[in-house]
Amino acid sequence: PDSFGLAYTTAPPTANGGAWSDAFKRAAAVTAQMTLEEKLLVVTGQNGRCVGNTGAVSRLNVPALCLQDGPTGPRPVDGHTQFPAGVTTAATWDRELIYERSRAMGQEFYDLGVHIALAPVTGGPLGRAPAGGRNWEGWYADPYATGEASYLSVKGLQDAGVQATSKHFMAYEQETSRNVYINKTAGSFPGLQLTDQLPISSNLDDTVTHETYLWSFAEAVRAGTSSVMCSYNRINGTHGCANSDALNGLLKTELNFQGFVVSDWGGVWATQPSVYGGNDLDMPGNGFAGILGIFYGDELEELVNNGTISESRLDDQVNRIFTPYFASGQADKTLPDVPFNAGFGGPPLDVEYRLVQKPSTLDLIRKIGEDGAILLKNDGGLPLKSPARIAVIGQDSGPPTRDCGPGGDSCPAGANANGTLADAGGSGYSTPLNLIYPLMAIQDRAAKDSIKVSWALNDSDIATVQATAKTADVALVFVSAWASEGYDRSNLNLTGGGDALVQAVAAVNKNTVVIMHIPGPTLVEAWIDNPNITAVLAPLLPGEQTGPSLVSVLWGSISPSGHLPFTIAKTTQDYPPNTITAKTEAETLDPQTNFTEGNYIDYKWFDAKNITPRFEFGFGLGYSTFEYSNIKKNETFAFDTLAIQKTNEKFVGQKEGESLYDVLLSVEVDVKNTGDVVACEVAQLYVEFPASANQPVRQLRGFDKVKQAAPGSTKTVSFPIRRKDVATWDVVQQKWVIATEAVTFHVGASSRILPQTITHTF
Ligand code: BGC
Repeated sequence: PDSFGLAYTTAPPTANGGAWSDAFKRAAAVTAQMTLEEKLLVVTGQNGRCVGNTGAVSRLNVPALCLQDGPTGPRPVDGHTQFPAGVTTAATWDRELIYERSRAMGQEFYDLGVHIALAPVTGGPLGRAPAGGRNWEGWYADPYATGEASYLSVKGLQDAGVQATSKHFMAYEQETSRNVYINKTAGSFPGLQLTDQLPISSNLDDTVTHETYLWSFAEAVRAGTSSVMCSYNRINGTHGCANSDALNGLLKTELNFQGFVVSDWGGVWATQPSVYGGNDLDMPGNGFAGILGIFYGDELEELVNNGTISESRLDDQVNRIFTPYFASGQADKTLPDVPFNAGFGGPPLDVEYRLVQKPSTLDLIRKIGEDGAILLKNDGGLPLKSPARIAVIGQDSGPPTRDCGPGGDSCPAGANANGTLADAGGSGYSTPLNLIYPLMAIQDRAAKDSIKVSWALNDSDIATVQATAKTADVALVFVSAWASEGYDRSNLNLTGGGDALVQAVAAVNKNTVVIMHIPGPTLVEAWIDNPNITAVLAPLLPGEQTGPSLVSVLWGSISPSGHLPFTIAKTTQDYPPNTITAKTEAETLDPQTNFTEGNYIDYKWFDAKNITPRFEFGFGLGYSTFEYSNIKKNETFAFDTLAIQKTNEKFVGQKEGESLYDVLLSVEVDVKNTGDVVACEVAQLYVEFPASANQPVRQLRGFDKVKQAAPGSTKTVSFPIRRKDVATWDVVQQKWVIATEAVTFHVGASSRILPQTITHTF
């Protein structure tokens, strides 16, 4: 048995497609007619218009499949929407909005001719490291909530006809030393960083794997994700894209995943271990002019010809790639032409620009921006109280100095160092069609009431900033924190002189409202208690309708209802230590990061160590107040969650026909709007296991958004509890064990405001 307690030496073939059995039959029929060369074209990335392309086999009507980034919309392309980032969408805690966003995004991918969207980020990263460069691409620093969002976003994308790629599998929690640009391509491309350093190895045990890092992938598989992208990092010493335990064991056997594994770009290090290890498609392969290392292809041909790799394994790779292609319905349609060249060596374009944004998508993303804005502090600063003069301060309120798209991620330090931060950097960045920045939207709204708006956008010109802020009835100061794929944040502070800017404004204006565009945990201790700061709002990364969605919140046409999808601490030292491991090549060629905090990431760490955060996971204010009462259990309420594919995950005592995902019970609670305005509330349920289970103090296992509650009205919220929600992973039995002693459910408005409790014995 290996590090996961499993023993897999070969890649398990599909179980005839599982829920996709009809599609599997069609796939296998095509595969059976293919020559070895044709199969190799399908499993090896080729040059083409997209960031990833498979080879076409026109004789059998198999097109080149187009794979394209990313999680905030297509990239690097023009004519589509820059969606709110995952982290902002997460902050809405609204399942409908999470689904609708992906559905609208899926339509744009589809209309651009993309077969396979390289989204969603499914929890690699999950948020183990507060300074992680890519946390914003994903959802919550919590496996349960990230699992819910992953499930819904896979459904949303795929319901729109595009295939989803759940990434990055797994335990990919830092950018530092992820090391894509390694010596395998030495000399082949000028400018690449050449190093012999291996990618960081994420070292974690079987329990933590199941209870924290695998959870959301199980949900993505249940939702029917077409593909899963293996990660750059090593897992317990073995490359993510050659990790038999992870890919063959956990993903393809335990979770019964029937689709294909695609390597992250350059994630394959050698053909044989990767094919054996369970990766099906090598990207970018021959694409990208081969700069990330060409594997599979000719090498795989030789390995098959000399009998090292069986042709049946290659058949399985092709079947796995084709099955979701048929299941998605794409084989029975003609997708639109791809109107961009994002890869290398794509054929000339017939069309170079296509508008795919629908007007309704702007309404949707504006709503996500409104409902995802987190009000962290309010001493009466918001909503605005009919000011005569508003000062807008900070470059983060203004326009970028140039249009950064298409390919906006090539703008220096991201598009936004010189303008408002609506999305962050790397392959997860997407270009706005029209970035309606805050200052523009504020002026537009202010004009309706003849409010004078003055602005100062140069953060380092403090004299002008103060002169502008001083005379206004309210000063809105905009600050941001930059993050990007490729490196981690060097600290948890606001970027540039953010703290100094806030302090300078608050020094001259007694009604200073701070707006923070941030990608994750950001420290606010330098000024949060300053009495001149009358409100603090964190819309995170709201996408191209950032201005209009902010205006709705500022003027109070909606009450903010975002809640934190991560914890904001008082100091960096309050988070688990050593979550970003930085080792230079000179120090080690073999960097390691040990997940010694185990399941105790984010709020679970603070709860266990009894550390008071500044703002806890799940926290958020609104313009109204809510009261929780009347908690009860409803045991007659039992249904099966509607999963396309059930996973093979087993539990102790399992009987015929029972699933780990069956609902056993619902916990219900009344939520009353006790304030004066229509508002939404994010009700959360946390489970406390019996002490003997040795689990975190409380763990999120339910959330429900009470929407548009009128003042004085009461709504009953119900949280379905599935077997898995009250189970822990048993390493000896290799199964989930449902708690046998009483568990306690806590319900309330954050991970620390939990007024209602009830116990239950299963
Ligand atoms: C990223 C992936 C992305 C791929 C293709 C990689 O650097 O890690 O998330 O899908 O590039 O652009």
